[in-house]
Amino acid sequence: MMACAAGKGLTHGSQQAQTADMDSFLIDHEPGIRMGVFFGLLGLMAIAEAIFPARARLLSRKERWPSAVALILLNALILRGVFPALAVGFAAISQDLGWGVIPALGLGFWPATLLAFVLMDLAIWAQHVAMHHVPLLWRFHRMHHSDVDLDAVSGARFHPGEIVMSMAYKILVVVLVGPSVAAVIIFEVVLSGAAVFNHANIRLPRRVDRVLRWCVVTPDFHRVHHSIIPGETNSNYGFFIPWWDRVFGLYRAQPSKGHRGMTLGLDHDRDGRAARLDQLLMQPVRSRAQTPPQASEESGAG
Ligand SMILES: [Zn+2]
Repeated sequence: MMACAAGKGLTHGSQQAQTADMDSFLIDHEPGIRMGVFFGLLGLMAIAEAIFPARARLLSRKERWPSAVALILLNALILRGVFPALAVGFAAISQDLGWGVIPALGLGFWPATLLAFVLMDLAIWAQHVAMHHVPLLWRFHRMHHSDVDLDAVSGARFHPGEIVMSMAYKILVVVLVGPSVAAVIIFEVVLSGAAVFNHANIRLPRRVDRVLRWCVVTPDFHRVHHSIIPGETNSNYGFFIPWWDRVFGLYRAQPSKGHRGMTLGLDHDRDGRAARLDQLLMQPVRSRAQTPPQASEESGAG
């Protein structure tokens, strides 16, 4: 009995040591890992988009990219200015205080990390559904949907208001779920890389896409979500794990007009002027921003 207890103590101790080792490795290399994955994938996808484009562009890169890059930089600055600590910082505080569901389960490092990842992905998926159905949230999220072209840069083109709300929500999720610092860093790195990949304007062979979309959200999977047709906009909410849309009946395999024939974006804010930074930032306060797309409009749009 005592030997068993001692064994358990040792196992628990080694699990804590493994978590601490992984935490300190990831914290030490965090900026390099984040930047490396994000910009590495961005470069890779930009090359792939030039070789295997899924669709022709409506606006030039010159019209879309300067405002998108400015938003990415602005969002990074705003997050650091608004929050005393980000999700990773709150994970460290939660870990010290033993908050959240996962520490109470006494799992090893990898099962705990996997469970944390799945729960956080589900929480982000649910937030995305809410963004489409709550008028106030749609005011901010619609800027991401107003992109009339999709490419790797679209994956980080969000309104600062949405970025701040998302971080506040993610901190709440972290406190409730109780992931380790390592789990949060892994989740955030994977999610930002996934967003670059699943917004990319690339054409994967249909057979590759069919297999891959059981494991991760692919560009064809996510492109349906950016259709101008409301019933398609309000489907395929997943960012990385593709199962939630299937489980909750919100999955559409392909756009009704095909990937080349479909129209991306919304039925307004479609010209080059609307893609300017000042216009993008003003979108939430403009009057027509208030209504999320309704399935009943489906026949009339697109
Ligand atoms: Zn959306």
